[in-house]
Amino acid sequence: MQRKTFLEMSLAGLAGMRLAAMPGSVVSAYTVRPRALQPSSVLAQHHPFVLPPLGYAASAVEPAVDAPTMLIHHDKHHAAYVAALNDALKPHPTLHRMTLRELLAGLASLPEGAREAVRNNAGGHANHAFFWTLLAPGGAKAPAGALATAIARDFASQAALTAAIKEGGLAQFGSGWVWLVRNAAGRLTVQHTPNQNTPISDDLTPVIAIDVWEHAYYLKYQNRRADYLDAVLGALNWDTASAAYGGQH
Ligand code: MN
Repeated sequence: MQRKTFLEMSLAGLAGMRLAAMPGSVVSAYTVRPRALQPSSVLAQHHPFVLPPLGYAASAVEPAVDAPTMLIHHDKHHAAYVAALNDALKPHPTLHRMTLRELLAGLASLPEGAREAVRNNAGGHANHAFFWTLLAPGGAKAPAGALATAIARDFASQAALTAAIKEGGLAQFGSGWVWLVRNAAGRLTVQHTPNQNTPISDDLTPVIAIDVWEHAYYLKYQNRRADYLDAVLGALNWDTASAAYGGQH
């Protein structure tokens, strides 16, 4: 059953990538609705990188995230990170066989001329791909399994965890992300990072990620980042988070 689900999602991912790669294709017309699409297929991509489809209608996360914001965020912002990453790696053919995960986990070993562009644009690609799966509609509204146990141990309750994520998102000065991450021992912590920096570069596994760049909320929420965080925390797909806790990212 597990395997069948994985195969179905892989096939759906391939079909979606082909659709997204076609010039003029309408990504929002993509009809497969993943319940907890793993971003691992994106982390396994290598040059040339491809924008994954959103996987659901741009209006599917309303009212938490409005359709215009979702469309611009995916079709323009995320697409721009993918294009910039491909451009940045063009003069570095030795890096073309590295996966997105390998690039992000090995920033220090990259040529200096590519490092910052990879940090920003590989980060932007991976972070957004994960974020879309965390917003996928129809998933569980609470953590399950090992993640539920770890949250009870490290935060006492789901409410205390979401309060800590909101606090972290508000504490990030300027553009960045707030994260729930797992270390190798399974311990959970909330972190926030500037720009498109990802905890993958610090050998940590993202479990939850929320974009707090103004482009993620300004059309609907203007300066009210707290309201945006409340809404997104209420819309999270906990199937995705529970799967992320159990897997490698
Ligand atoms: Mn963004």
